Amino acid sequence: MEAKVSPSIARAKAELLAGGAVRIPQDFRLPFLPSRSTAGPGAGSTAAVFSFGETRAKKSISRDEGDFELSLDENGMSILRNGEVLIAGVKIVPTVYHAPHQAFINIDSSCVMDCKFCATPRLNDGITKNLTDQKIMSMIEDASKKDDFLSVSFTSGVPSTPAMTVKRMAGLVSATRTLLPRTSIGVEPYATRPDEIEMLRSAGADEIKLNIESFDRDIFDKVCPNRDFDIIMHMIIHASEVFGKNRVSSNIIYGLGETDENVLEGVSVLANTGAVATLRALRRNQYNISELERILGALVPVTADRMLHLAEEEKKILQSHGLTTLEFKTMCHLCLSCDIVPFWDV
Ligand code: SF4
Repeated sequence: MEAKVSPSIARAKAELLAGGAVRIPQDFRLPFLPSRSTAGPGAGSTAAVFSFGETRAKKSISRDEGDFELSLDENGMSILRNGEVLIAGVKIVPTVYHAPHQAFINIDSSCVMDCKFCATPRLNDGITKNLTDQKIMSMIEDASKKDDFLSVSFTSGVPSTPAMTVKRMAGLVSATRTLLPRTSIGVEPYATRPDEIEMLRSAGADEIKLNIESFDRDIFDKVCPNRDFDIIMHMIIHASEVFGKNRVSSNIIYGLGETDENVLEGVSVLANTGAVATLRALRRNQYNISELERILGALVPVTADRMLHLAEEEKKILQSHGLTTLEFKTMCHLCLSCDIVPFWDV
C-alpha cells in the first residue's frame, strides 16, 4: 500500500525528528501560540507543529539556537539545515490542545511512577497545570467549536493510584460523551485491572493507548521501576477484546539500548493481540538523559535511517495482521507529529 507522502518527504521528516530544535528568526511572529505540552515527547519544551507534504512534525523551537532554521522569503517558509533547504513549502499549524485537530488533555501532570524517560513529573510548577474536571470540560466545549476540531483524547500521570486516575478519566470520558455524542474519544491510562478497561469503554471511549514502553525486559525494569510489564500486556490483550482491532495502540520507545529485532518482536506480539504499536524514538532532553545514561549506560542517538527502517518493517508486520494506523481517529496515529507513522509516512 502506497504511503500518503513521498519517500523524500518521509526522509526529510525523519531527519527533522532526529535532530535538535528549529531556530526561528528573532523578529518572526508565530501565527499561533506555541505548544507548551505537559505530556508526550516534547513535554516541557516550547514547540510548534510544522506541516509539509501532507505530513506534520512537532519540534522544539528557539529564538537563539537550533540544528535547523526556519527561513521566510517571498515563496513562503522553508526549514534549512546547514544553510541548505531541507524542507520547502512549510506551514505552521495550530494545535487545538497539544495536538492538531484534537483536544488532547493531560488531566494531571503529577506522577508517582518515576519512569525515567518521562519529563512530565519533572516539569516545574510554571508549566504543570492544575486542571479541575470543570475546567477540562470547559476547555473541551471551547475546543469543539473550532473549525479544525476532530476528536478528544485524555492522558494522565498517576498522582496517587492507577485506579483513582482511571476512575477520574472515566468520569471525564462520560461527561465528554454526553456533551459530544458523535465525537471520537481516545484514552491513555495506566490501567492495571480488566474492569478499568471496561469502565473506560462503557463511559464512551472509542480508542485506548496502553504503553508497554520497551519489549526489552531488562530495559523495561530499569526505566519503569514501578510498573509491571505483565500487567500492561494483560491489559493490552483485554483491551483488544473490548475495543476491537485498530482501536488499541501502545508506545514502544526505542533508543534505550535495545535491538531492532527486539522492537519488531514487540510490534509482532502486539499485532497478534490486534494492537498497533506506536514506535517512538527516545527524545533526549534536560529532564531525562543524565538519569537514563546513569542506569542504562551511554545511549546512541536515534538516526533518521533507524526511524525509517523500523517504520517500514512495522508496516509489513501490521499488513500481515490486517492492521493499519489509518483507522485511528484519536491520539498519536492521527496526530502524526512525533513519529514516522507507517502507512502515512512510509
Ligand atoms: S504524536 Fe502524540 S505525543 Fe506527539 S504531539 Fe501528537 S498526540 Fe502528542
